[in-house]
Amino acid sequence: MVTTSGPQAAARPVDAVVVGAGLSGLYQLHRLRQLGLTAMVLEAGDDIGGTWYWNRYPGARCDIESMSYSYSFSPELDQEWEWRERYASQPEILRYIHHVADRFDLRGDVMLRTRVTRAVYDQDSHLWHLSTDTGLAVTARFVILATGCMSVPKDPGIPGADSFTGAVHHTARWPREDVSFAGKRVAVIGTGCSGVQAIPVIADEAASLTVFQRTPAYVLPAHNRPLRPAEIAQLKARYPEFRRAQRLSRGGTVFEPPTRSALEADETERTAAYEAAWDEGFLNGLLRTYTDILTDEKANETVAEFVRSKIRSIVDDPATAELLSPRTYPFATKRPCLGTDYYATYNLPHVSLVDLRTTPIETITPRGIRTSDGEHVLDMIVFATGFDALTGSQLSIDIVGKGGVPLRDRWAEGPRNYLGLVTAGFPNLFTVLGPLSPSVLTNIAVSLEQQVEWITDCIAHLRRNGITEIDAAPDAEADWGVHVAEVADRTLYPVVDSWYTGANVPGKPRVFLAYAGGLDRYREQCDTVARNGYTGFLLSS
Ligand code: NAP
Repeated sequence: MVTTSGPQAAARPVDAVVVGAGLSGLYQLHRLRQLGLTAMVLEAGDDIGGTWYWNRYPGARCDIESMSYSYSFSPELDQEWEWRERYASQPEILRYIHHVADRFDLRGDVMLRTRVTRAVYDQDSHLWHLSTDTGLAVTARFVILATGCMSVPKDPGIPGADSFTGAVHHTARWPREDVSFAGKRVAVIGTGCSGVQAIPVIADEAASLTVFQRTPAYVLPAHNRPLRPAEIAQLKARYPEFRRAQRLSRGGTVFEPPTRSALEADETERTAAYEAAWDEGFLNGLLRTYTDILTDEKANETVAEFVRSKIRSIVDDPATAELLSPRTYPFATKRPCLGTDYYATYNLPHVSLVDLRTTPIETITPRGIRTSDGEHVLDMIVFATGFDALTGSQLSIDIVGKGGVPLRDRWAEGPRNYLGLVTAGFPNLFTVLGPLSPSVLTNIAVSLEQQVEWITDCIAHLRRNGITEIDAAPDAEADWGVHVAEVADRTLYPVVDSWYTGANVPGKPRVFLAYAGGLDRYREQCDTVARNGYTGFLLSS
């Protein structure tokens, strides 16, 4: 009944199609196979790796420690893979993903260079019909979108971009071949996590580097270093226990939760706590010092000012230090960045900072970038301008559900789904790390395993019980949307324009896009729903 057709049709039928061959898609394939399903992964890129395939810009590195940011499903894999650095570089993570694909023999079911363009649900047969840009057409009972939370680069929308005669790169579409900056006048537009990582590395080589900044980031030091054999052995010895703790944790990383408000501590105590967190070099180290950094503006301001004081102490020129100091939004309401030598880079004589708030870009010209203050002549422009996050990758596929309703219409006022997993009217279509789930607020390596395992168990349940269709009940979906918004409203997140709220993309509905209640609570809710027979879902045979 389940068939593939088209010019490059695969010979075998599939029960499930997974879209995307990144960390989520590969694990989903592994689990579906274990269930005895035939499954196929369709991947737009010409290799596996997802985020870690596309984002190969200089300096790209994970900001969660490598021994935490990795699959936990195989104790053998945990023991045999040896991470080299505290924070793994993009090439090292890509090597790891390739190792996993080989070790679990996953490549055979991955079809590369195949972008899913359309997916239409047939209500009568309960099957999805997928079209791709190669002409391949696939029919499957289940579709799992493992398309990543940050996979559609945002169009920076700067006029004249096509007229530039030098080289142009986007951090999220970095070429595979080496890009040399030697002797070049380079511009970086954007100072989010990608720009923050690329800037010091580009500055190392370029003749000159001009950074065009609209909003400064809070950048914490990574203190990256090679891992010592003894610490690797030590963690490996207790990996099973560590992995368990990760799974039960709030955000997928293991730490001692804070117990006090920042406002209960006096300034000396607070500064000591912040200094210790700064010295440790964890992305969320400062956030975890006190309970109310993300919920109380006054508490938050104590951290924000601490980071500004660090910037002043590192950057020689006080005017540049001030421009680099975030003042328009609370700490961590836009994702903070983990950097290496980021602020010190601005002390180099060939590095300059352009503040786009006072001198906005007017146009890109054939020779460079013209701001209200004049033209900057350049050989290369690097866009580090971010993504259409969380919903972009799903809406870039023309998905049509029950009654011919397009997902784009269903989500016209923002994403809707139940548990971040299924949208009402789009049965048998699951999403991993999608909107309204903990995804980007957690260590996604842990989040993706939780969702993949839940989806796999759900599909097993459906097959065991002869159920051909699972859909989200509209009232359960509505309640989930209200719950996600309520939880977000207890924090400072929603007040800020960021990619978390969709505000970075013109015209995108302004909705807080992730579940801020914690992975532990989310897991509990998902497990309860499953234990009680998939409450809130509509099951039909
Ligand atoms: P981002 O955080 O959205 O940053 C984009 C930057 O470009 C911002 O500074 C933004 O300014 C600026 N920008 C956008 N459009 C512009 C325009 N037209 N003109 C001038 N400036 C413009 O994107 P990102 O740095 O790629 O990071 C996205 C997310 O990916 C991160 O938050 C993180 O979750 C993930 N990431 C993780 C890592 C890691 O693990 N180490 C590394 C990189 C990325 P405004 O703020 O004013 O809009």
